[in-house]
Amino acid sequence: MKASAATSFSCVFFFLSSILFAQTTPNSDGNYQQLRNIGLRSGSITVENLRFKRDSATFLLNAGTLCFVTPVNNKVTGAVFVGDGKLLLDPPIASERTSLSVFTKEKEYAETFDHLVLRFTDNTYEELKSAGKPANAPCDLDLLHNSAKVMRKEVNYNLDARILQDVASTEPGGLFVAFVHGKHYDRKTLFTIDPHGAPSVYPEEISLETYNENKLGIWAAFHYTPEYASGAATSGQKNGVIHIDHQQLDTEFDKAGHLDGKAVVTFVSRAPGSKVVPFNLFRTLRVSSVTGQSGESLNFIQEDKNEDPQFWVILSRPLGKDERYEITVKYAGKDAVSAEGAGNYYPIARTSWYPNSAAGDFGEYTNYDMTFRIPKGMIIAATGTRISETSDGGHNVTVWKSESPLAVAGFNFGSFKKEDGKVAKPPMDVSSYANVNPPSWVDSVKQSEVGDPMGGLETSHIRSNCAVGSMNTTILNKKALGEAQYSLAVFSEYFGTLPYKQLAMTQQTASNYGQSWPMLVYLPITYLFDDTVRHCLGYPDTSAYFSIVAPHEVAHQWWGHMVGFNSYRDQWMSEGFAEMSASLYIQFLYNKEPQRYAKFWNDELKLLTERNKEGYRAIDAGPVTMGYRLNNSREGFGITRQLIYPKGAYVLQMVRMMMYDRQSGDQRFKETMRDFVTTYAGQSATTEDFKAVAEKHMTPAMDLEGNHKMDWFFNEYVYGTQLPNYKLDYSFEPGPDGDFVLIMKLNQSGVSPEFRMLVPIYLELANGQVVRLGSARPAGNMTVEQKVSLKGVKEKPKRAMINYNFDVLATMN
Ligand SMILES: [Zn+2]
Repeated sequence: MKASAATSFSCVFFFLSSILFAQTTPNSDGNYQQLRNIGLRSGSITVENLRFKRDSATFLLNAGTLCFVTPVNNKVTGAVFVGDGKLLLDPPIASERTSLSVFTKEKEYAETFDHLVLRFTDNTYEELKSAGKPANAPCDLDLLHNSAKVMRKEVNYNLDARILQDVASTEPGGLFVAFVHGKHYDRKTLFTIDPHGAPSVYPEEISLETYNENKLGIWAAFHYTPEYASGAATSGQKNGVIHIDHQQLDTEFDKAGHLDGKAVVTFVSRAPGSKVVPFNLFRTLRVSSVTGQSGESLNFIQEDKNEDPQFWVILSRPLGKDERYEITVKYAGKDAVSAEGAGNYYPIARTSWYPNSAAGDFGEYTNYDMTFRIPKGMIIAATGTRISETSDGGHNVTVWKSESPLAVAGFNFGSFKKEDGKVAKPPMDVSSYANVNPPSWVDSVKQSEVGDPMGGLETSHIRSNCAVGSMNTTILNKKALGEAQYSLAVFSEYFGTLPYKQLAMTQQTASNYGQSWPMLVYLPITYLFDDTVRHCLGYPDTSAYFSIVAPHEVAHQWWGHMVGFNSYRDQWMSEGFAEMSASLYIQFLYNKEPQRYAKFWNDELKLLTERNKEGYRAIDAGPVTMGYRLNNSREGFGITRQLIYPKGAYVLQMVRMMMYDRQSGDQRFKETMRDFVTTYAGQSATTEDFKAVAEKHMTPAMDLEGNHKMDWFFNEYVYGTQLPNYKLDYSFEPGPDGDFVLIMKLNQSGVSPEFRMLVPIYLELANGQVVRLGSARPAGNMTVEQKVSLKGVKEKPKRAMINYNFDVLATMN
């Protein structure tokens, strides 16, 4: 009896659950299922000397057989070619042709293959089907299946969902993907054209990459060729299908860090006809339901967390351009936040703990209303203004609101001890949060000698017997507060007032990096250790990292958040400007110890010019505008970090020093930066946007080409990789009227004939005072010889100098 009751109950339960979840079973959309399990249509065509172009790529199918995939929603989205073929790629811009030749070591890219799989939603089918003769050669289904496997298991991108996006749209698609089994360069080559941005190089539409584990890299990436001629080829392009306008996020964490979330996402369609919409959601957060704005259940896609787990929502109808729509998403899972022991929680999913925009890095600005429920006794800091704090059973409940649209939202919670402070000008509340007890990794280090828990940051060997020193991070909590207050005061003076009224400095379990979210900074736990403990953990005592990590992260409030970036091409500004901001902090805080400022810039130069373990110098790797694309198996995966931070810092420092004036000091530079920040507040800015603002404020002396442009400077240091060397020879002679005369020879070498620079010359006078004389203007590899009469200088100066204020990124031998 009992058993049968249980059985019937279980049946009822089953029945109910099938009703409740019928519409929200992931990946169940019919068209999607057909695409996911796509096969080949019977019948093939023979092709000979077939040539077709996709933007700057030319495919030559010399001789072979073509088969097509079965249609879905009457659209044929793929083809398999077996035979003799060739792919030529000729990017529309010189820098990408250079990038290609770095990989190929040849002048032209010409790859050969004996089979090719194409997936597309453009007119490829129409173009190819009529280009050959019908034949009855067998089709190789394995090739098609292998390409699907590659996407799932190696590239980890759900191409089937992306194809569905166009198959379900009322508008024609423009996707074209070629799996090239190359014989000459690499058998794991992928060529992509996606009008919504190729996945690794958004917003650029075109990319050529290899996904070979030993040869990972993006060989070339660019916009559609005609966009370069029309001027539309900018990294500010918003090519995503939606813009998220508002997020209402309700998020609960249990003691194990398990996340349970509900998001009400309001977005605006950017493209007409969109029905399948991508979101960025962390792979372990599994979606249980998606509801449309009329309460209807919506289909969605989310495959295995270890394969191609991107989250896509299938709307019940296509949206018109600029149409607004709201969905509600429920999701839950572990590993987005990791419980690290003793009330320490580590947010792993920084940008994707909620269904975030799938397009752009920090280029989309959204309003947030958030509620967090965290285990009782914990304290939370989050992006936005804290509206209320209550307790509800076993939870601490806080409500947060963004006062202005933000590039990202985030939080940090734990058994924190909090210190509060203020900044007077502009008025801001600053708090710092440190954990009362160390996470378990610290305990394990304390007890025994272990491997390297630091990950990336360079450490020497971890010393045994680390039980000395205090592991209590709350002692140095006030230091974080003080550094934040000082940084905010200095940066507000230089860059203008932030749109935020508060800032939280918080400890994170990770020991090797800091990060910054709007109004929320994550500091590495090592920052809050004292020297003894750091030494014990194997950090080199000389590392200046710990003195600049806090100001660098505070500066990201301006660089990355107040002014965002839409593309990897502009990330150098976020990192470089934050790094340069840290130099201002060092300069003013340690004005009695100028050697610290000098060490900062010398360290930056060292990062750029020392060879990494792969044998490459960061300065030579490529222009800063290639960003993280420069990381590859050959030149190393740390090379971009060594390039964009220090070189970006130097670029801004060079602008500052060119604008420096003996009377008004940094005034012009401050005006430039405030103008830049005000113009692009709450938006993303491109490299070219910054260049335009610099040109608006440039001095006549900076106009080296006489066209009121800074092309010369940007071509050399931003879009280029040159590094000049300078040598200064000089003597002083008394002149006829008793004033001393400087006789100098400044040699510039190691550059192209077009390379120009303004090189400020400094004098240290007999009384120790340092004055800036003016600037030499060498062009190409040359020696500038000059005699300068030093008006009123009756005593022989001690010395003449260049680069006294780290004016020029150069070597000096
Ligand atoms: Zn940074």
